[in-house]
Formats: sequence, structure tokens, C-alpha cells
Amino acid sequence: MIRLTELRLPLDHDDTALRAAIVTRLGIDDSALHDFTIARRGYDARKRGRIVLVYSVDCVVDDEASLLARHENTPSIMPSPDTQYVLPTASPGALRPVVIGAGPCGVMAALILAQAGLRPIVIERGKIVRERTIDTFALWRRSELTPESNVQFGEGGAGTFSDGKLYSGVSDPRHLGRKVMEEFVKAGAPEEILYVSKPHIGTFRLVSMVEHIRAEIEALGGEYRFGVRVDGLVTEGNPRRLTGLVLSDGTTLEADRAILAVGHSARDTFEMLRQAGVPMQAKPFSIGVRIEHPQSLIDCARFGDQGGHPLLGAADYKLVHHASNGRAVYSFCMCPGGTVVAATSEPNQVVTNGMSQYSRAERNANAGIVVDVSPERDYPDGVLAGVAFQRHWERAAFVAGGGDYKAPAQRVEDFLAGRPSTTLGDVVPSYKPGVTPTDLSLCLPDFAVQAIREALPAFERKLKGFSMGDAVLTGVETRTSSPIRLPRTAEGQSPGLIGLFPAGEGAGYAGGILSAGIDGIRAAEWVIGAHDTRQSIG
Ligand SMILES: Cc1cc2nc3c(=O)[nH]c(=O)nc-3n(C[C@H](O)[C@H](O)[C@H](O)COP(=O)(O)OP(=O)(O)OC[C@H]3O[C@@H](n4cnc5c(N)ncnc54)[C@H](O)[C@@H]3O)c2cc1C
Repeated sequence: MIRLTELRLPLDHDDTALRAAIVTRLGIDDSALHDFTIARRGYDARKRGRIVLVYSVDCVVDDEASLLARHENTPSIMPSPDTQYVLPTASPGALRPVVIGAGPCGVMAALILAQAGLRPIVIERGKIVRERTIDTFALWRRSELTPESNVQFGEGGAGTFSDGKLYSGVSDPRHLGRKVMEEFVKAGAPEEILYVSKPHIGTFRLVSMVEHIRAEIEALGGEYRFGVRVDGLVTEGNPRRLTGLVLSDGTTLEADRAILAVGHSARDTFEMLRQAGVPMQAKPFSIGVRIEHPQSLIDCARFGDQGGHPLLGAADYKLVHHASNGRAVYSFCMCPGGTVVAATSEPNQVVTNGMSQYSRAERNANAGIVVDVSPERDYPDGVLAGVAFQRHWERAAFVAGGGDYKAPAQRVEDFLAGRPSTTLGDVVPSYKPGVTPTDLSLCLPDFAVQAIREALPAFERKLKGFSMGDAVLTGVETRTSSPIRLPRTAEGQSPGLIGLFPAGEGAGYAGGILSAGIDGIRAAEWVIGAHDTRQSIG
């Protein structure tokens, strides 16, 4: 097949235009084009009001070799890449591999292990996704937090109640992201995620997809154990190797290969790993607030008159500002037409994040506006000092919100003027169980307040209306990525512990659903490669 890129067509082109553009670009007769599929559809919105669609297509044509030779020097015409995933061949080890955590990383790892015939055991501290949904809604509706079953913990992991954005900036030369997407489509995601440039799924579908994938893993002989936490490691030998996992139900599971995919909020597990001597480093993350605007304002600022076009959907944005105090301020996890959600996993803390449904039809757009923090500058006191830093500000947000899981909020105009908000304006905040108008500087470090105050007017210059007085800021956004990184060897194992495979966001190798899924595949492949650690050590 031949891949053709950079085919630019007007937003409202008719059904025949794409085929005509392919034939013209290739310089062939229509009869020589046997078939084509869209590999990617994006848009170029740099000229507001004159947005064009940009396609990449894969074509089946007569005599591909001579056509490619003829276009040898045309960068937009090339052989189509081979994106098919080839499952590695696995031989069963003495014990079944274990996956700790059923987020996107753990679930993709378990799926690959199951497809390879290794019948993995998945240990997940939270509940199955339907029960978890009930617990999550209890916080949002009644201020009742269940520490083991919430937005962060439970089947599907942190991204289950989310916008389900599926883009990632990670380098992916083996097209593992394509494998993740294909599995998601098999599980019920819309097929367009395979080709649109900024795919998303939305919360509602994610929940049933997670169940479908579980059914496949179980059908292949895998097994899930819910409501059980890994609380300790059993090791032996020198070099040390894993021999078992201590579980919260008081039992020990014999295990010589375990993928550790616990996400960025498993703070108790990080502490357990530190005490067990698993090598780890403090790493940078970010802290800030969520901002909410009317979605119509963002649509208009980005797309002008073409806002609301079905092929464009609700508009998103991505903004960065380098503040004069040396901090970078950037938009994070933007959710068009969505809601701000309560995302704490620990009692008496307030943490924000964002989610939406596939339709992205809610009134407000929201995004984190966050400021980078690093161990060197902001939490130098030990490998888990970043966790203490997060907890401090999450607790401050809980207090500023009034102590009942309401979040502190402030109008942008008041935030910029340095005065507390006493009421809110036209933008109605979506955060549940509610917000308390106050002063957000009570729950943010000074450098972050200063940097965000500088960034908002700078963002206004890029996106008209961004610093509108009634836009609402809700705090505090702290769980942007893991505060630690667990180093791993070229074989994907902890350098201090053979048989432990740190993976996903919690270990510092992913920053979103797609990259976590990709890392899960990698981890599964490493486990398959290390199918018998006992022999390789002996
Ligand atoms: C509200 C929200 C919205 C988001 N929106 C998006 C988005 O639109 N797009 C995007 O790409 N990303 C989004 N993210 C981020 C994304 O969810 C994460 O990057 C991703 O889930 C990380 O995957 P993971 O598998 O590494 O970890 P997680 O998803 O965090 O999964 C870890 C799992 O391990 C379990 N666990 C933890 N400790 C233990 C233990 N000791 N024993 C057993 N089980 C344990 C947890 O219960 C959890 O289920 C969002 C996150 C949140 C919270």
C-alpha cells in the first residue's frame, strides 16, 4: 500500500473530493486506484474561519513499485508503514505472571500476557468498575469518600472517569499505540479513534470497555482479584529476586514476575516499596488549578464562524507561558464540554481533575492551569517529599473549601486583583459536591500564584476571552503525574529486584491513558522475555 499525507480539503468537502484529490496527487487514472482508507484526519485551524481538513490515506493502486519510484523525491508519498502488532511467543514459566493494578497500563499488560497464553493474575485494590462508579458518585453527590474505591482506585484505573483523550507525545516506532487503539475499538470504542488526530472516548464508554477487556482476559484464562492490595514484597537471594507478594487479605501470593502498574496516587504502595529497598527517585510534576470557561467562548476563539462544525467537535486548546520567576505555566488535560471532578483518594483532601462524555456537550470547557515543580527547588527532603508536598496543598484546599469536600474557587478577575471571591459570576462551576468562593492563594505556593497571574493575561493574547473576569478557577490540581520514578533495566526490571517490572504512570513511564497502555504492552513483552527468571539467575 502507499501512504499519502498532507491532503488538504475544505471542511465541507463532498464525498467524492478525497478520492479525486488522491488521484490528482498520485497522477494516476481513477481506474488505477482500487481502494483507500483514511489513516489520519486532522485539521489545520491556524487561519481562524478558514479551517481545512488534513488527511493521510493508505491506497491500493496498480503497480505500486513503479509509482513509488516515480515519486521517490516526494516526501508526502511513501510506502504505508506496517502497523500490525506481532504477539511475542511465550513459554509458560513455573508461576503465572502477576499484574498489580488494573489501570490502562495493567489492563493492556494483562491482555497481552493473556493473548500470549500466560494466564495472568491481576491484583486490583479497588472494586469492579460498576461498583466503583457508585462509590465515586458518592463523593461527588454526598461528600462521602471511599479511600479504596474512587476516581484514582478501582478497575480501569485513574482514566476511567475522564475525557478519554487518547493522544500522547511518546515516541512509538513500533506502533504499539495502534495495538492499544485496536483493542479499545474491539472493546467498544468508536472506530474513528483509529484515524482522527485527537481521538477521545468519554467516560460512559470507557466503563463498558473496561468490562469487555476483563471478559477477554478471563476467557483466555486470566484472573482478576478485586479489593486486594499488594502490601509487601517477598524476596530472596543475591542479587535479590521476587518470590511472592504480601496481600492485604493476609495471604501471600507466590510470584516470580510481577508488573507494578499502580498509578501515581498509590502513595502507601510507594512507601512500602521504599521500605522494601526498591530503587526510586523523586521527579518533577506540576501544581495549579482548573479553569472553566463557556465552551462557546473557546469554540469561537479557536474556530470563529466554523465553531460547532461536527467534524471539528468542541474546541480544545494547548497553552504555555514561561513566567518571569522561571516557572513554566501550561494547560493540562483540557476537557472540552466537560466537568471538573473531585479526584482525591485520601480523606480530608481536595484534588481537581476533568472529565467529559463522548459528546462533549456540557456547557463549560475546563483545563488544568499548572506550574512545574521539581525536587531540586521545591521538595528536596527525600525521595517521597513530593508526596508530602502534594498532601500539604491538597489539605490546604480541603480547608479553604470549607472542610466538606467542596473545592475552593475564585473568579479570574478576583484572582488577578489579589482579592478573595465572595460570589461567582456568569460561569457556573461544574465541580461536585460544590465550590466555596475564596482566595486560591491559600492553597497554592506563592511562586505558582505569581506565575499563573502572569500567565492568564498572556493566554488571553493567544485565546480571546481566556482571562474573562467570570471564568472560574477551582483548586487544587496536584496529581498531574507521578512524584516518583522507579528506574528499570534494559530488560524492564527494577535494578534492585529481579522479577519486578515497574510500569505505567506511577513508575514515571507514562502520562496518560495511551502512553500507559503502550508501556503496559512493553512490560508484558519484558515479562514474556523473562519467562523463567529462576533459570536466568541460576
Ligand atoms: C479524572 C481524570 C481524568 C483523566 N483524563 C485523562 C484523559 O482524558 N486522557 C489521558 O490520556 N489521561 C487522562 N488521565 C490520566 C490517566 O488516567 C492516567 O495517565 C492513566 O490512568 C495511568 O495509567 P496507569 O495504568 O499507569 O495507572 P492508573 O490508571 O492510576 O491505575 C493504577 C491502578 O493500580 C491500582 N493500585 C494501586 N496500588 C495498588 C496496590 N498496592 N495493589 C493493587 N492495586 C493497586 C489502583 O487502584 C489503580 O486502579 C486522567 C486522570 C484522571 C484522574
